[in-house]
Amino acid sequence: MAATATLVGALACQRNSFLAEGFETTVLKCEKTKEDKIFEVQLQDTILFPEGGGQPSDLGELVVDSNDRKVSVFGVERRGLQAIHRVNEFVEPGTSVKVTVDWQRRFDFMQQHTGQHLVSAILDQWELPTLSWCMGGVPTYKNPTPGPTELFNYIEIGRKLTADEISKLSHICHEHITVNPQKVTVVENQKDDEACENDQADINMSKIPDDYDVAKGVVRTIHIGDMDANPCCGTHLTSTAQIGSIFISPNQGAVRGTNSRIYFMCGYRVLKYTTFANALLGQMKSLLSCSEPTIVEKVSYQLESAQKTTKREQYWKKKIATVDASTAFNALKEHGKCYYSQDEFGSLDYLTLVHKEIESKITHSKLRDYVAVISGREKATNSGALIVVSDSADKIASVTSKLQEICPTLKGGGGKKGGKWQGKVVSFKGQIWENLNDYLSENFKKVA
Ligand SMILES: [Zn+2]
Repeated sequence: MAATATLVGALACQRNSFLAEGFETTVLKCEKTKEDKIFEVQLQDTILFPEGGGQPSDLGELVVDSNDRKVSVFGVERRGLQAIHRVNEFVEPGTSVKVTVDWQRRFDFMQQHTGQHLVSAILDQWELPTLSWCMGGVPTYKNPTPGPTELFNYIEIGRKLTADEISKLSHICHEHITVNPQKVTVVENQKDDEACENDQADINMSKIPDDYDVAKGVVRTIHIGDMDANPCCGTHLTSTAQIGSIFISPNQGAVRGTNSRIYFMCGYRVLKYTTFANALLGQMKSLLSCSEPTIVEKVSYQLESAQKTTKREQYWKKKIATVDASTAFNALKEHGKCYYSQDEFGSLDYLTLVHKEIESKITHSKLRDYVAVISGREKATNSGALIVVSDSADKIASVTSKLQEICPTLKGGGGKKGGKWQGKVVSFKGQIWENLNDYLSENFKKVA
């Protein structure tokens, strides 16, 4: 009789989630897919868990017994009742292979997943059923090593928890990790198994995926001690003690009206996050020359102080711009052309202030036949800006073409009917700034 594949629900990884390597089985099928160099393998049984129950799929290897050839498995999916392994090479059906799991990845998933069951079980006792949950920090092709702040999972419940409830939740979780660990057990039930009917009575069967054929498959119920029982196909720890640690963030997320997301992480992730947070605090301490408890106070003071400085700077900029514009306007009245040049902090916003003041004076006095160049450089970035003002479009065109000859990175526009032309200089490299000022001083009256 031909061998048949073990159904999802009764896979070796589901029966013993601590099988990590050396599991022997036989390849039943290996089919080429429409995708280039991708094959789908069906094994007689497997220790690689296919995606399900909120837990992502395992990664691992098939080691061909006869020649030690290693075939990497980059994904396992559940198709109905079958586990399909995705690989890059053809493996002859009938070949016997040893299966190995990427254990670090799997153990992390088991810590998060069992941690979720524990947090949900406690919340359930508070009559806050878990509406959904999502495992964060899952490595992907695009993001193979998620950062410490991406390691949070969440559980969605019907309302926000108070700060006291979060603290109590953390406390109870830690009791079940340390002094009062709960056994995590799995009950396997065939649908027609009468002995299990009572056990199933208060289990929420709606959590089983629609495409899982309950009549033919195996329903698994995960028990967290006597606290909780839930149908779940995932791989779990054998005791809540193995979760190691749970960090529940005091920051919740509001979703769907009054619902709330409770963010948490378990196991080694807590260590990663703590190490990151500790290093961050250390850097802040050193930057601000203070101790941890005074960081917030110090940063608040710095922000307030920066706001005051900005306000003060705006005030003086406007005041000085008025004086500069007044001098420029007088030169314009007398000579018909002038230039204003601001080095060091000659940013576009300052030049614009000067321009606005000049323009208002020109409009007011009905001045005719004039051309002014306002230029600035910001030394820190060696970039800058130029504004050309005239009532003649021809004058603007001829001056800007000369300026662009001197500053090759000058780009701008406007003033086609007279008025204002404005441009930016990406870089004043070499002697460009000096050459620009030489040209301006030879052809225009200098202001300031
Ligand atoms: Zn589960």
